Amino acid sequence: MISIPKGTKDVLPSESYKWKFVENEAREVAESFCFKEIRTPIFEHTELFLRGVGDTTDIVNKEMYTFEDKGGRSITLKPEGTAGVARSFLENNLYAGALPVKMYYFTPVFRYEKPQAGRLREHHQFGVELYGSMLPEADAEVIALAYTFFDRLKLHPSLEINSIGCADCRKLYNEALVKYYENNYDKLCPLCKERLKKNPLRLLDCKVEKCAELSENAPKILNYLCDDCKAHHEAVKSILNDLNIEYTENPNIVRGLDYYSRTVFEFVSDKLGAKSTVCGGGRYNGLTKQIGDIEVPAVGFGMGLERLLLLLEACESTQIRENNIDLYIAAIGDRARAESKKIAYELRKKGFSVENDIMGRSLKAQMKYADKIKALHSIVLGDDEIDKNECIIKNMFTSETIITKTEDIEKHLRR
Ligand code: ATP
Ligand code: MG
Repeated sequence: MISIPKGTKDVLPSESYKWKFVENEAREVAESFCFKEIRTPIFEHTELFLRGVGDTTDIVNKEMYTFEDKGGRSITLKPEGTAGVARSFLENNLYAGALPVKMYYFTPVFRYEKPQAGRLREHHQFGVELYGSMLPEADAEVIALAYTFFDRLKLHPSLEINSIGCADCRKLYNEALVKYYENNYDKLCPLCKERLKKNPLRLLDCKVEKCAELSENAPKILNYLCDDCKAHHEAVKSILNDLNIEYTENPNIVRGLDYYSRTVFEFVSDKLGAKSTVCGGGRYNGLTKQIGDIEVPAVGFGMGLERLLLLLEACESTQIRENNIDLYIAAIGDRARAESKKIAYELRKKGFSVENDIMGRSLKAQMKYADKIKALHSIVLGDDEIDKNECIIKNMFTSETIITKTEDIEKHLRR
């Protein structure tokens, strides 16, 4: 038996309705905010992620699925959703049309990670990207979209926000950070010793306990923001307040990717074992410049759907229900079997979900199966029913029965 690759998961037919539900809700919320779907390829040139995501990040350093294709090109399976959308936005000159450009996507994401609960090698993300606005209103709109989505699912992960300023504020801040961590150099994990040289901001994000403790007392970026960045941050918060969106400020959120500037945010929940992030995002004004030489401000988020489903489960959500089958047609004898196919076919064409026997089961076994698949209604078709063009339709949950003309069956299926 060949088994599934480590860190990947099947979505089985018995579970796919949960995915469908979550994806439908996400689509509806995104479209109510006037975002449109974009679909980009699952693989891109490796160069895109080296330049776009940044070579000091965990993703690029350790986690990418990179291979050479038969033409000798270096190809990488998407390790996140934003860079591909940015590439497409630039390549298709979307910046030359009406701004803002508001897009959402669903994508598989590939990262070579150590698999554990909520951490896979292939996971899926729902994400949004808003291009073209420098204003804090854009940041707030994207945050409000994610918030609305969680609210609709009756989930209440906490929203934590921060600003990591612009390159100017970060320069001063980085100096202060380096000084602070250098004074505590011996306590740092080996990786953070490396990070200190390349990207000191990332130390704040380290999950190793000693490093996390140190980060508590590290200098705070908010004290280093320039006037413009400070005003932007205050304005984002003020809009969130106006919308009654609850949040806390967490000065240690820096996000794992290099392209962020100013606003960064996460939705976190402690219902997923250790406090864990379901959705992370922020503003990334520098990304398009890094990959395409044109500067277009942007803000967005990525949400892990596996973690979202874990959260729904942990919250024992009763909202998601599998769609029931509308009708099971049991048949006795060859004539009825043939007739049941015709009735099923006509009703299916009208959009009802109708099942009939294709296993050659006895009547008793057919009815048992109808129970098992939780059919809402059933009819039993025999010679008598066909001759009279009449049958008894039974509600499988209330056991109520009604006699109906065959052509009127659908009237009783309407919910
Ligand atoms: P983490 O700190 O947990 O590694 P991250 O900062 O790498 O997360 P992002 O790159 O921001 O995560 O991805 C957005 C979201 O995708 C995360 O908030 C999380 O819900 C989900 N996610 C990230 N990596 C994985 C993974 N390996 N397996 C499942 N979901 C993931
Ligand atoms: Mg990660």
